[in-house]
Parts: sequence; C-alpha cells; structure tokens
Amino acid sequence: MHDEFARIEWLRARFELHGADERLLVGIGDDAAVIDLGKPPVIVTVDTQVEDVHFRRDLISCRELGYRAFVAAVSDVWAMGGLPSAALIALTLPARLSDHEFRELIEGLAEAAESTRARIVGGNLSGGELLTVTTSVFGAPVHEPVARKGAEPGHLVYVTGTLGAAAVGLALLEADGLDPEQTNHFVERWKRPPLNDRAATGLAKIASAAVDVSDGCLQDLGHLCKASLVGATLRADSIPTENSHDSVCEALGLDPLLTALAGGEDYELIFTAPASNEAASLGTTIGEITAETGVRVVDTHGALVDVQRKGFRHFS
Ligand SMILES: [Mg+2]
Repeated sequence: MHDEFARIEWLRARFELHGADERLLVGIGDDAAVIDLGKPPVIVTVDTQVEDVHFRRDLISCRELGYRAFVAAVSDVWAMGGLPSAALIALTLPARLSDHEFRELIEGLAEAAESTRARIVGGNLSGGELLTVTTSVFGAPVHEPVARKGAEPGHLVYVTGTLGAAAVGLALLEADGLDPEQTNHFVERWKRPPLNDRAATGLAKIASAAVDVSDGCLQDLGHLCKASLVGATLRADSIPTENSHDSVCEALGLDPLLTALAGGEDYELIFTAPASNEAASLGTTIGEITAETGVRVVDTHGALVDVQRKGFRHFS
C-alpha cells in the first residue's frame, strides 16, 4: 500500500469507522473538507511541501517557495468553489537556513496571503533536517461547496488557464540550458501558480464538480470521474497550452500532449457543468463527461490517442 491514493482510500475507510456526522459535509478524499460549524460552513485543507520531494533549494528561492507553497494550498479551496480567509503555517527549518532566508520565506508566504486575501493567523516553527512548509487554509464556499462528485454524463469539462506550462518550467530549470528569453515565462509559471479566485467565484454557482490540477489533468480528472461514477472524453486539439509549448517541449525531448495532460503542478481548476456561456467564460472546454468510466483522449478524427503508450502511468 505504498501508493498515495491507496493510502488515502484506506484512511477514508478508517475514519468512516467514526460513523456518520451530519456536520461533515465533505470528508476525506476531496480537495478539501467542508464542516458545518455554522453559516457558512468551513472549508479546510492542508498541504506540505518537502525539500527534495516537492522542490530543490537550488532551483527556487525561499521567497518563491513561500509564495508557491501558499498558493498551491489555497488552490484546493478554490477547487471547492470557495474563497480562503485564514491560514496557519508550520515550518521545519534546517539549522543551515539563514535569518535572511527565513525572512524571505515569510515574505513569499505574506505576498501570497495578500494576493489570495487569506490572512496568516498563526502556525508553528520546528527544527529538522529538511525544509518543509505546511499550509492549512480555511475558507468558505461562495455558494454551495463544489465537490469532486456530481459530474453527470453530458456535462462539459472545462479547465482554467493553460496546462503543462509548470511541468515545462520545472523541466527547463532541471535542464538548465535553453535560451531564458524564450522560456522564462514557463519557469515563472512553475514558481508562481495562478490566482484563480475569479474562476472559483464563477464556478461556484454553475459547476457540478471540480478539482484542481496538482498531479496532472488526466490524473486529477480521473479522481473527479471516479468520485462522480462517470468517465470523460477529452479532445486532444482543445487542450489549452502556452504559445511556444510544442516547440519548447520538443527542444526538451518531451511529448507536448502528454506534458500538457500529465505534467502536473498546473494548479489550474478543472470543473464540469452543463454547457453555458458563463462556464465557457471561465475556461476552455476540453471534453465531455460520459457514462462510460475512465478518461479517454481522442484526436480531431475522433480516434483514441493512446496516452498509456505515450508513457502516462495510471494510478487508480
Ligand atoms: Mg487538489
């Protein structure tokens, strides 16, 4: 049971032993939990970024790390159709971290808190071998909370922004060679996840289900479909990417479509909804929900694209 998702399934079953709790509106296994502690209910989520697992100190500054960790955590609140209001930060600080680096980390967190309008209200400091940043975010739904379950056959699949740019940015940092003029915005896209408060507010009223893209579009949409007991068909030619995505991917030896669909760390929002201008105004239509389970990708002729063969590892 070393698989992250198998462990989450086990945890969900373990804590269901506590029995039904009418205050628990959304429990383990979604982007965030929703608890009815009064009106409105509270959305709560936690995310940890670990040195050498989620980031390398030589590839990101402390300030950038703080900003990135915070927005990535808030993304789960936006994915519930909510807006953040407060956050707690727990830091593990290695002895080698200087006071300057510590203050830079805090400035990055503070900038993200201001940008997302979530006040940092407390936290915890601890020593340790590796730098870790744990962010708990509390928020409230704009309307009703939007969970991963609720998508129905015939609903369209929308995504905000573009896909794959963060994965390209990280690959560029690791490759350390290509012309920075052409590629800087990809690196920025990895370091600075998008602010999706407007999309979250918009989707709150119209979405049947939503998830944010942390592990890659195919995987995260797969979680949404599994929770909704449906499947999806995506159109390869409708996947939104940055202008020079294909050429930069090719220069890096990456498959452009697979990088967009499976790259991860985009922190864009995928949501499903009946077709409407309002939904289309929030993002790009990339496919449709189907009764048949599983996520498929088709080309312009409707023929299946074999993403498994392209190297996509299916976890569920
Ligand atoms: Mg998420």
